[in-house]
Amino acid sequence: MSDQRFVSPVFADRHIGPDDDSLATMLTTLAVPDLEALADAVVPSTIRETGSVEVLDLPPAASEVETLAELRAFAAKNRQMVQMIGLGYHETVTPGVIKRNILENPAWYTAYTPYQPEISQGRLEALLNFQTAVADLTGLDIANASMLDEATAVAEGMTLALRSSRSKSRRFVVDADTLPQTLAVLKTRAQPIDIELVIVDLAGGVDSLPVGDFFGILLSYPGASGAIADHTDIIAAAHERDAKVVVATDLLALTLLRAPGDIGADIAVGSSQRFGVSLGFGGPHAGFMAVRLDLQRQLPGRLVGVSHDADGNSAYRLTLQTREQHIRREKATSNICTAQVLLAVMASMYAVYHGPDGLTAIAQQINGKAASLATALAAGGVTMANEHFFDTVRAQVPGKSADVVAAARDAGINLWADGPDFVQVAISETTTDAHLAAVLSAFGVSEPIVAALDVIPAELARTTDFLTHPVFHNHRSETAMLRYIRKLSDLDLALDRTMIPLGSCTMKLNATTEMEAVTWPEFAGLHPFAPADDAAGMLELIAQLEHWLCEITGYAAVSLQPNAGSQGEYAGLLAIRAYHASRGEEHRNICLIPASAHGTNAASAVMAGMTVVVVGTDEAGNIDLADLHAKIDANARTLAAIMVTYPSTHGVYEETISDIAESVHAAGGQVYVDGANLNALVGLARPGVFGGDVSHLNLHKTFCIPHGGGGPGVGPVGVRAHLAPFLPNHPMQPAAGPVTGVGAVSAAPWGSASILPISWAYIRMMGADGLRRATLTAVAAANYIAVQLRDYFPILYTGHGGFVAHECILDLRPMTAQTGVSVDDVAKRLVDYGFHAPTMSFPVAGTLMVEPTESEDLVEIDRFIAAMIAIKGEVDKVAAGHWPVTDNPLRGAPHTAAALAGEWDHPYTRAEAIFPQGVVPAHKYFPPVRRIDGAYGDRNLVCSCPPIQAYAQ
Ligand SMILES: *Cc1c(COP(=O)(O)O)cnc(C)c1O
Repeated sequence: MSDQRFVSPVFADRHIGPDDDSLATMLTTLAVPDLEALADAVVPSTIRETGSVEVLDLPPAASEVETLAELRAFAAKNRQMVQMIGLGYHETVTPGVIKRNILENPAWYTAYTPYQPEISQGRLEALLNFQTAVADLTGLDIANASMLDEATAVAEGMTLALRSSRSKSRRFVVDADTLPQTLAVLKTRAQPIDIELVIVDLAGGVDSLPVGDFFGILLSYPGASGAIADHTDIIAAAHERDAKVVVATDLLALTLLRAPGDIGADIAVGSSQRFGVSLGFGGPHAGFMAVRLDLQRQLPGRLVGVSHDADGNSAYRLTLQTREQHIRREKATSNICTAQVLLAVMASMYAVYHGPDGLTAIAQQINGKAASLATALAAGGVTMANEHFFDTVRAQVPGKSADVVAAARDAGINLWADGPDFVQVAISETTTDAHLAAVLSAFGVSEPIVAALDVIPAELARTTDFLTHPVFHNHRSETAMLRYIRKLSDLDLALDRTMIPLGSCTMKLNATTEMEAVTWPEFAGLHPFAPADDAAGMLELIAQLEHWLCEITGYAAVSLQPNAGSQGEYAGLLAIRAYHASRGEEHRNICLIPASAHGTNAASAVMAGMTVVVVGTDEAGNIDLADLHAKIDANARTLAAIMVTYPSTHGVYEETISDIAESVHAAGGQVYVDGANLNALVGLARPGVFGGDVSHLNLHKTFCIPHGGGGPGVGPVGVRAHLAPFLPNHPMQPAAGPVTGVGAVSAAPWGSASILPISWAYIRMMGADGLRRATLTAVAAANYIAVQLRDYFPILYTGHGGFVAHECILDLRPMTAQTGVSVDDVAKRLVDYGFHAPTMSFPVAGTLMVEPTESEDLVEIDRFIAAMIAIKGEVDKVAAGHWPVTDNPLRGAPHTAAALAGEWDHPYTRAEAIFPQGVVPAHKYFPPVRRIDGAYGDRNLVCSCPPIQAYAQ
């Protein structure tokens, strides 16, 4: 018998897990004849466009081979240059062992955010290494993992200063020698929350501080001009005036410079890009933030800490989750959810690979070359703007900057012209003497390159140690490095081993072909501020992707700048705010948000200067219409927007969405449709048509960018035509957004541009039919699971005809009330069965939300169903008194290999613990630690490498 699938060049047949027979089985279970009948049964007719408009206008699906050829053609249109522009983005060498075994390794890039720490010890250790490296190098007490980029990290530093400063002022002082993209993001972020930026040239020292109060100050070290100044006195003066001090800095420079913590900084921020992560036309890269001890509980973003497990061994986990937006909502420290984990892991591994001596040697080489270049230029009669610098040479060339830059471009080198009179040259790890010679001749200088005097003043030279932990010393050979990376990935469960049925997170296939172009030098080597024609192919790809996303969503325009869904929410709400203001209605500031919404919605609304009013949900899980109308009436004059997730976070297509949109519009408000659940809509219905004015999409959910263990992501924001003038733009690349736009929301013009080929390739290979089939298969799979499990665990919410959308909530609360077995027990027990748990306690505490996606085949789905049924059998034994609630395979889960070796005094056998279904699988996954005590870790914060790495104990 020949299976059509294996001779088929149709990518959709590979992306979609169930084959025709499996699908038939699933549909029979649901009592629907085919996928179209399922669409009719499940999706409310009110939101569907019928007839020919229901077919998306996308190019016909291309094969994997054709798609790679098209990507190659885009790549060929980009111009590969030597990038010496600097401004926060530097060429770097990604060690091959890190590129192949992390960036190109699905064991790392397909992992999820480590909310289930027992199956995440590997990436948690790598992130703890990142935090340790950042804390060491900045000389501060505690660092997070990670921020979205440098500019937004500075903005988070500003709001952290505002929260923690004793000053009542709302003024934030910014040194003029700040990166232009950072200034742009600060302006965007300050305005809606009434922070006044005071931009002053602080080169004159303490006397240049403005009169009057201010709550914080931003210094750059080194500055945007490359200058390194001694900020000690200004910092002391700022502290005397009750201001917190934020220092934007460069980790590599800090191997040579006094640490920000040592000169008095409270908060240090920056980018870890030059630790082995390619330029990638602006991203993704991991930003960082480190703070003094007294600010640790206010630190935004995710923080890895050390706790202990049920056997008393130390173990890693995400700590202080209670301050995050899914708990604190509008009172959260920030809206950051998806961060830049994969890139933080790469940067940490770069530090592990080179160690303190290796990093210092790289920094010395860079600094030495910069000094030599400056010396030769000066000898050739060019005026140097700065005496002290790390890697960036700033030359004064009155009226000639364009000529110098053009001459360098002829030699294949990009320099930076700062106005007509200045040129900046940034030296990096990849700079050679030949590059220096070419730069000199671009300046018309023929002096030889010779060793030069020190350009770092003695009082700013680093004297303290860093990276003293053994992890930064023990992996110097490539063999040791390779095994360290492999060891850590073996500790974790990612999509390369099991389905990850996380509701709301859409953990679908990240196909290898989609990933290919990410590391091609023609994309990876683009500097975000290079002339646009260097990136002609990339920009063509971006324009196509924007067009396709508009077609899929029904919106008129889209911006790819936001680096995650949360940032897209923020950008979308800013567009709403600017739209109201453009009509003289700036008083509209109320944002209605259903109680079931994701926590980022509320946190983003606050950042956009809005006040959150919560709308209740009714017993069926839908938005409570009576409450909605009451709240619209109560806020009619000031209503700015409603944020609704569609299908809802309760996993159903609400029938009333168009009515809700109409009511809000009638009251003068705008409708924000959170597009995180677009995997249930693509090819079926379009938010821009059924009532939305604006949505963000999560390309790392629906459009196949891998989760990377908690990032990177891309959160494009799509808008209807009336909001298009208010999309983000960027000071360095006019083509990145409308002139009338709301400013920059990310450091880079197109955000995390280098991962856009992933989503482009997905859409290109699926075509309109494939995308629609994927959506319906995802819906079929979720409904199949719901039907198979509903006799064991009640399905909390269903919609039209008793169906769910693309995910279903299993209600464990009755079971817990009856037996004492908790949702945690079930989630951890799934690890013993070899599974990653579904989403736990979101959006309803005590429940599990299951989203299989279209990519899981029926064998895997059935394996999951069988595990859940077997677990229910175990729960029944607890209920029947066979095992006590305090000691049973569920409460004891997960079980490590070590737990079996010692004394065994449990009322269940070792075999019941680890081979729960009586089957001995060929590939048994053992977690390295047992259940982790979260509360202990929150009380006793340890957020850098412990003396001995946890799992090794
Ligand atoms: C994932 C998600 C978000 C946040 O997106 P990030 O990319 O993680 O910032 C917002 N809303 C919903 C419903 C989500 O599932």
